[in-house]
Amino acid sequence: MAKKSIEQVDVAGKVVLVRVDFNVPLDDDLAITDDRRIKMALPTIQSVLGRGGKLILMSHLGRPKGDGNDSRFSLKPAAVRLGELLDQPVTFAQDTVGDDAQAKVAALGEAGVLVLENLRFNEGEKTGCSAFAGKLAAFADVYCNDAFGTCHRTDASMVAVPEAMAGKPRVVGFLVDKEIQYLSDAIATPQRPFVAILGGAKVSDKITVIDNLLGVCDSVLIGGAMAYTFAFAQGGSIGKSLVEPDKVDLALALLEKGGDKLVLPVDTHCGDDFSADCNKEVVTAGQISEDFEGLDIGPETANRYAQIVSEAKTVVWNGPMGVCEMPPFDEGTKKVAQAIADGENVSIIGGGDSAAAIQQLGFADKVSHVSTGGGASLAMLEGKSFAAVELLDEI
Ligand code: AMP
Repeated sequence: MAKKSIEQVDVAGKVVLVRVDFNVPLDDDLAITDDRRIKMALPTIQSVLGRGGKLILMSHLGRPKGDGNDSRFSLKPAAVRLGELLDQPVTFAQDTVGDDAQAKVAALGEAGVLVLENLRFNEGEKTGCSAFAGKLAAFADVYCNDAFGTCHRTDASMVAVPEAMAGKPRVVGFLVDKEIQYLSDAIATPQRPFVAILGGAKVSDKITVIDNLLGVCDSVLIGGAMAYTFAFAQGGSIGKSLVEPDKVDLALALLEKGGDKLVLPVDTHCGDDFSADCNKEVVTAGQISEDFEGLDIGPETANRYAQIVSEAKTVVWNGPMGVCEMPPFDEGTKKVAQAIADGENVSIIGGGDSAAAIQQLGFADKVSHVSTGGGASLAMLEGKSFAAVELLDEI
């Protein structure tokens, strides 16, 4: 599914409506505490401006009720920050499709950049309302989707707006283009061996991912608390470990489907309390003492996983191997991250905790791709197709 990119559209003199992801964290004083999402939209924004286009940027921020204004969720701080990053004036509209937005769209001059207020202030955004979408669509000559974190959603700005712009160019931005290239294309035609490493708290969150990746990978390595549901399903002792007893049947089905491809820990690093200074012991997997809980993969498992990763040509990683926020139970996650960073492979890190771990360890520039979308990257690893991307123009 090679989608046309904003780079391939002549934008000179045109108005480009870009769905960005400016869903940045704000503190109590409404100051942005992490502006990475704004920075990640800059390649698309600068490309359009550099080629003589004008921009209308739309995004959601947080989860306001769709019934009007709530300054805690305003996109104004994001518009101000964008102006600083671009070093040029950025106009802000106090509504999305109301009088202020209409007037500011009409007044958009050469190289103009306009940020609309939070899309979710209008309930039509979440309901996919076509009347709301029609008003946004009428603002522009070109539609561009550069909001990967929202690509698995069917909100109006993601689906109804590009639908309403049929006949005009509808393309992906640089960020979405890169995400698709790695999360979808690299996985569809991987260099082998292709190894997936899946961890995190719950097997239930990742059943479809494991299922899909078992169909395409050579090995799927399991870590994190989800390993205990597998151990439990196999009749092992898991003490006080986090477990999902109601997922035992699913775990057994995955074990049967996976066969040798599904690789489970051989040892477990346990503690007698969920704290860094608890009493600790390393035991064989499935033999956790009654008063202990598994908090990380054990050292032998970490070495095995690192060895498998070092021989891989394509690696996908989603979810930590243990309680990586609480040393020493971060050791398994660190060992795997180090092996990925050292390897000669195409390495793709899913969003969320594994992305944060790879950044914290300083390995982000040693991997091929760190995904920006937690839910969206998982959905893509599940093999789902996204309506918001499907309807965009093909090359
Ligand atoms: P997820 O959002 O599913 O990727 O899960 C990430 C969370 O799983 C992190 O906060 C980890 O602390 C947690 N986690 C990983 N391994 C374990 C474990 N053995 N016991 C409890 N929590 C864990």
